[in-house]
Amino acid sequence: MSERILIVGGRVVDSASGTDALLDVLVEGGVVRAIGPGLGGDGARRVDASGCIVSPGFVDLHAHLREPGFEQKGTIATETEAALRGGFTTICAMPNTLPAPDSGSIVESLLERIARDARVRVLPIGCTTRGRNGSEVAEMSELAAAGCVAFSDDGNPVAHGAVMRNAMMLAGSLGLPVSEHCDDPVLSAGGVMNEGRVSERLGLAGQPVTAEISAIARNIALCEATGTRLHIAHVTTARGLEMVADAKRRGLPLTCEVTPSHLFLTEDAVFGGGKEAAYDTNAKINPPLRTEADRRALCAGLNAGIIDAIATDHAPHAIEDKLCEFDNAAFGISCFETALGTLLTQVGRGELDLHAVLRALTTGPVAAFALAAKAPGAGRLAEGSRADITVFDPNQSWVVDVQRFASKGKNSPLHGLELTGRVRAVVVAGELAFAEEVAHA
Ligand SMILES: [Zn+2]
Repeated sequence: MSERILIVGGRVVDSASGTDALLDVLVEGGVVRAIGPGLGGDGARRVDASGCIVSPGFVDLHAHLREPGFEQKGTIATETEAALRGGFTTICAMPNTLPAPDSGSIVESLLERIARDARVRVLPIGCTTRGRNGSEVAEMSELAAAGCVAFSDDGNPVAHGAVMRNAMMLAGSLGLPVSEHCDDPVLSAGGVMNEGRVSERLGLAGQPVTAEISAIARNIALCEATGTRLHIAHVTTARGLEMVADAKRRGLPLTCEVTPSHLFLTEDAVFGGGKEAAYDTNAKINPPLRTEADRRALCAGLNAGIIDAIATDHAPHAIEDKLCEFDNAAFGISCFETALGTLLTQVGRGELDLHAVLRALTTGPVAAFALAAKAPGAGRLAEGSRADITVFDPNQSWVVDVQRFASKGKNSPLHGLELTGRVRAVVVAGELAFAEEVAHA
């Protein structure tokens, strides 16, 4: 059943082994059979990778697939197709669905849907609290037994410190990390964008940076007290990142992620990037886009390896969720299909280091959630391991057209923007699952 594929003439970059060289890759029987120069692959399907980088398929720790419960925004089928086209072959699904996966049986039925419809490997994240309501810890041992790789109430930060402490103690005893959206909901209440110069000018209620900073401080304290692995979801502030760096220096079991949106955009995007009318609801995201100083700090933190993972926070919405007043619009950006393009555009500008980016898309996230056993082969390109491979052209320019997204979510503030860097082919479990034959100028 499985194909023989020969990926020819590409630059193989694999963070796990330190490989960075012009090599061929032969895929057979679902696994990487050989990596080397001038491989023969008689009868194999050839993928011409000249001028391209051949990477382990990307791993995303933070995606919203919307199913079950919000299929008008996205489904497992549509959003994993979007992930595939973005080069992501292993993604972790956040639990803000209906029902939310807060018990083993809900995860089991979710895994049945995934087995039927998913185009890439999907790993479920279970709820931290029952119904994501923040008051009672979820059935964590059931969730772990059913296959959840982490716990989170993403979008609903666990406000109650004692509940969070109990949750972290239980998660720790199960050997799983807690991924926390660090935000003090009281400080952020009513805010629809970053509090500052732009929110004042637009007359919008802001979310202060202190809301993120104080939540990170509390959660680092709980990480220290419990010894449980804590993953800080989508850090957005320079000060928050400093606190993460300090906690890491002190040896705490702490990791963090950044989104491509927060690396690429600032609060100014709410003005429509200067070329559209103000109040661009597609730039409304939680946590919000911050200042240029924050953005630069995040880029530096990624290059320095303080940030472990780039996670998309892919959040598709229906048109009507965004086609409304800014205050009423939903938070979130459809990100799978632009993530690599923005990252490589920033590599081209000298803002991001290519190897740091690829590490944060492969080995970094695998280490953060300790996925090596649960998702064999994820984030690495090694002979004998499962063949999940992304081939991309770092120099190909293209214009973002949301109508061409595979995602149901057309909500991107990048529509019409030219990016440099595009996915050309993706192998999932040894099958050529996506190949772009036609170059888009
Ligand atoms: Zn979040």
